[in-house]
Amino acid sequence: MNPKISTLIDSSTQVYGVFGNPVSHSLSPLLHNAVFKELGMNCIYLAFEIQEQTLGIAFEGIRSKIVRGVNLTIPFKEEALNFIDEIPEDIDRGVGAINTVVNKDDKLFGYNTDVPGFLQAITNELEFKPAGKTVLVLGAGGAARAVAFALAYSNAERILLSNRNFDRAVGLAEYLADYFPESDIEAIASLDNIAKEKPALIVNASACGLKGSDPVSFDLKALNNAPSVYDLIYSPKETKLLKEAKSLGFKAANGLGMLVNQAALSFTLWTGKKEGVREKMLEVLKNANHN
Ligand code: NAP
Repeated sequence: MNPKISTLIDSSTQVYGVFGNPVSHSLSPLLHNAVFKELGMNCIYLAFEIQEQTLGIAFEGIRSKIVRGVNLTIPFKEEALNFIDEIPEDIDRGVGAINTVVNKDDKLFGYNTDVPGFLQAITNELEFKPAGKTVLVLGAGGAARAVAFALAYSNAERILLSNRNFDRAVGLAEYLADYFPESDIEAIASLDNIAKEKPALIVNASACGLKGSDPVSFDLKALNNAPSVYDLIYSPKETKLLKEAKSLGFKAANGLGMLVNQAALSFTLWTGKKEGVREKMLEVLKNANHN
């Protein structure tokens, strides 16, 4: 038996997976198969590269239980809303994107585990509580949307959005402000005066940092209130932003915790199993030796 495969595959094996395109880089099969194996479950998790025009057909596979449950990744988190029956959580409806589908009693339920996954990560790794705080979010794509929603939902006092494409940040700020009329949410065109805002947390939810050559777009040294820094990027393990934050003595963490948290939450939604899931996934990643 291939030691990488979670279990002996037979006629009772249940199939789970991730729908995406591209999807070959996904760490989800590694995480979920390790837990299926650990728990002795006759299940396997696969990465499915889906063509955009066939997402609806792929969803029929979940409805007919060929696939028991899926995660969604780029570019399907929003489009998937067209193929499910219900989004049980208010916050997930607000974000307008899902990353997990559960087939329960022949109904397809959609969830966004990135939101609680992010909140768990900043709580556990940075001991950060958003309520009453000013937070700077870098980025305005899908991840930034989930992060900003999570922060507004947790009563952050002021949320500043900065993005390479400023209009996109304005659009996200307006959408969030409609949903959370009590919150102070603003798109900012420049980070030159960010020190004056004294953000207590900086979240990089942009793809800037994925390449070693990507610069830090503002002067972190000028932030003498020592903000915490959370970078959603986990490969490389340390972006320039994280390196700089750590060298200044700021609390800082990469996106591995969020990755594991959202995966563990999806696993529990499908299987009802919780104990030891997150820990096993963390152990697998530590041994996976990716850089
Ligand atoms: P996305 O929807 O494609 O958005 C990409 C964002 O990054 C946009 O705001 C884009 O700005 C910005 N961007 C891209 N290249 C940039 C550059 N060179 N300089 C400055 N900004 C740049 O992607 P996403 O799903 O939001 O993902 C964003 C990042 O979060 C990725 O690195 C992804 O790996 C990471 N992520 C991590 C987790 C986790 O669990 N840790 C979960 C989800 C995502 P424009 O609007 O100007 O193009």
